[in-house]
Amino acid sequence: MNSSNHKQKIYFDHSATTPVHPQVLEAMMPCFSANFGNASSVHSFGQEAKVALEEARRQITAVINAEPSEIVFTSGGTEADNLAVKGTAQFFSGRKTHIVTSAVEHHAVLYACKYLEKNGFEVTYVPVDKFGLVSPDKVAQAIREETCLVSIMHANNEIGTINPIPEIAALSKDRGILFHTDAVQTLGKIPIDVKEMNIDMLSISGHKIYGPKGIGALYIRRGIQIEKIMHGGKHERDRRAGTENIPGAVGLGKAAEICSRSMEKDRVKLTELRDDLQRKISDILPEVHLNGHETKRLPGILNMSFPGAASDSLLLSLDLKGIAVSNGSACSSGTIEPSHVLKGLKLSKNLANSAIRFSLGKENTPEEIDVTVGVLQEIVSRLRGLKRGKKLIAA
Ligand SMILES: *Cc1c(COP(=O)(O)O)cnc(C)c1O
Repeated sequence: MNSSNHKQKIYFDHSATTPVHPQVLEAMMPCFSANFGNASSVHSFGQEAKVALEEARRQITAVINAEPSEIVFTSGGTEADNLAVKGTAQFFSGRKTHIVTSAVEHHAVLYACKYLEKNGFEVTYVPVDKFGLVSPDKVAQAIREETCLVSIMHANNEIGTINPIPEIAALSKDRGILFHTDAVQTLGKIPIDVKEMNIDMLSISGHKIYGPKGIGALYIRRGIQIEKIMHGGKHERDRRAGTENIPGAVGLGKAAEICSRSMEKDRVKLTELRDDLQRKISDILPEVHLNGHETKRLPGILNMSFPGAASDSLLLSLDLKGIAVSNGSACSSGTIEPSHVLKGLKLSKNLANSAIRFSLGKENTPEEIDVTVGVLQEIVSRLRGLKRGKKLIAA
């Protein structure tokens, strides 16, 4: 295939969202028609809907080794994170008012913490090392007498770095502090066992794992009390009010089941494709830089910097060629502002402003890798040439 005239669009943005798996859609369809009941209703329509909802709950627990009563369905990963962070804070309000998290969390955790800071809580944002790793020692040092929650993400959505969650969860447990992890990027991609890993609360989302958008869940270990953030009916064992999104829940359950069934196969395939992409890019383009950890990283994620080529220009140029990636730097009011994650890595300005993320998925192919490498070579060389030209003129 010629790199410059390929016709097919290429999607390398699976960390942003994924297409719904055909079997997921198939499982959801009856919930919109024949099985449309309200799971709270006593009659047979309601009971049938409840059966579907409970099966979805069971499918999720099978993937993370939890009990069905420990799953609370939410409107997505964002709400699950908010429920964990704000629900815990509210429960301990006035008694334990300190939270430990990391500087590179998803905004759903980060901004929930910022909000709590305006409402009487203190938050320690533990910095990460140059690979994006949270050190258990730094978490241990941050913990205080009045700490009520430690919330550290399982793997980062921008760079894919996988944190030492068992160590951090264990040290939190030793200190009698609740531990929450955002596992939106890891469910069905790397093994999760909430019991073995000592996780008290864990957030997941449907649309990152070939399920639908607008559905997620929070695992809450049995016996743990937190405040609710959504008030109304006594749905979800009185933990999250609102008529359950049954098509969504069924889709999430099915998606979790499918992902976990093919986890090992997908891991091998995605790692191979990703490493191939990384190697070929490094071979043909000088001065590129890997952001994240070489090995402690999610299978399908490659975040690289191309100094001399601004990340927004890279993203737009690739998009013109039908290749979808995402950038970690956004142009705000005329200047490029790296994301909080890239800032957290303390990259030089040149590296931070030229980073893009490829996130691969099940349906990507080796041919797509080759096409992308060819296109990228043209684009990066052109952008770097332009920049050198400008410098010459300026001089
Ligand atoms: C996408 C994402 C979320 C938010 O999930 P939504 O279902 O889109 O609200 C939270 N955390 C991480 C790490 C994510 O990647």
